[in-house]
Amino acid sequence: MENFAFYNPTKLYFGSDQIEQLKHEIEQYGQNILMVYGGGSIKRNGLYDEVTNILKDAGKHIFELSGVEPNPRVTTARKGIELCKSENIDFILAVGGGSTIDCTKAIAAGAVTDADIWDIVTKKEQATGSLPFGTILTLAATGSEMNAGSVITNWETKEKHGWGSPYSFPAFSILDPAYTKSVPEHQTVYGMVDIMSHALEHYFHHEENTLLQDRMVEGILQTVIETAPKLLEDLENETHRATILYNGTMALNGMVNMGYKGDWATHNLEHAVSAVHDIPHGGGLAILFPHWMEYAIDENVDRFKQLAVRVFDVDTEGKSDKEIGLEGIQKLRDFWNSLGAPSSLGDYDITEDSIPEMADRTVIARDQFGNFKSLNREDAVAIYQKAL
Ligand code: NAP
Ligand code: FE
Repeated sequence: MENFAFYNPTKLYFGSDQIEQLKHEIEQYGQNILMVYGGGSIKRNGLYDEVTNILKDAGKHIFELSGVEPNPRVTTARKGIELCKSENIDFILAVGGGSTIDCTKAIAAGAVTDADIWDIVTKKEQATGSLPFGTILTLAATGSEMNAGSVITNWETKEKHGWGSPYSFPAFSILDPAYTKSVPEHQTVYGMVDIMSHALEHYFHHEENTLLQDRMVEGILQTVIETAPKLLEDLENETHRATILYNGTMALNGMVNMGYKGDWATHNLEHAVSAVHDIPHGGGLAILFPHWMEYAIDENVDRFKQLAVRVFDVDTEGKSDKEIGLEGIQKLRDFWNSLGAPSSLGDYDITEDSIPEMADRTVIARDQFGNFKSLNREDAVAIYQKAL
């Protein structure tokens, strides 16, 4: 592994009734609170009332930005930035899934600068600071509740990019598995695929001496594989919801991948698909990841073999290393299919016609992408072809 510095200032409150902590946390901030949320799931499950009551009891003045889209748009972030500036917002509270949190990170950074937030997302400008913000998470998936990353879509230019800054960690995040019980089955599956995909992105690298990191990443994969079928049998089971929720945070808070960068080409490939077709992130990953793995296996067959043996219990008897690796990839695909995840771009009515447009979008930020296997536009076309 490489030398590293680890920094993660987010205070995490995990478990039943941790919403109580909001009362104490919110005391230290000013009067004007912007509450950011999505399309209404928090009104249907009662969380909206619970949060606004706590804020009112604390004497706060509540402003609201609702309607944050899944795959949050820069236009919505700009609305939030305007509100922060016109209403002198002191603190932002994100209540929702990764999209609401990612949008909040963009609002918080955009509120303290004259630069346009899209220029920050596309790295033409640097974030110079951020309003403080906290999160109440309602969906296990992205890890955004304990990292400094954010993914924003520009629907006019059909671009979707990840960005981050040292200022973009939540001050605190409250994770009560009870709030995730209302997540519908398909969205629960997308979340679990995203969690496993973050683990898989970490797994493919060329660093040596990552013995503990490998075991931690494999632990996340194995825990999701063990828990997912039980959770889908019983979506209201709070124990299984808690397991998946904790996995989601650990998969992308920087703890399991200290000292190396994973690959991340598949996330770039997926963002390009979502940018053009607005499909759910986890759905796109379920389609693309096994194809990327088959495309990249010759880069280091040993890593694929290790994954196949340790995580997917592939029998090695009489098989070449590559055959073992490929069998592991097929087992991953079969597992996601067994959960009901999509397996081809055709499942979202995406045809060959849009491959050039999607492939263009994989190389907007740079000509090559992927740290384990470096890909270019032609490689993207080849992977999309296989995924049709
Ligand atoms: P999401 O887009 O935040 O939410 C998806 C859907 O789930 C929404 O329709 C939402 O409804 C609903 N939902 C959320 N909580 C619910 C609940 N408790 N009960 C019922 N419905 C609920 O999903 P996500 O997977 O968390 O976020 C996806 C975005 O994050 C993508 O843009 C992806 O690219 C990005 N991402 C970010 C990171 C990162 O590190 N920052 C990592 C990976 C992916 P409402 O809108 O009505 O609430
Ligand atoms: Fe992701």
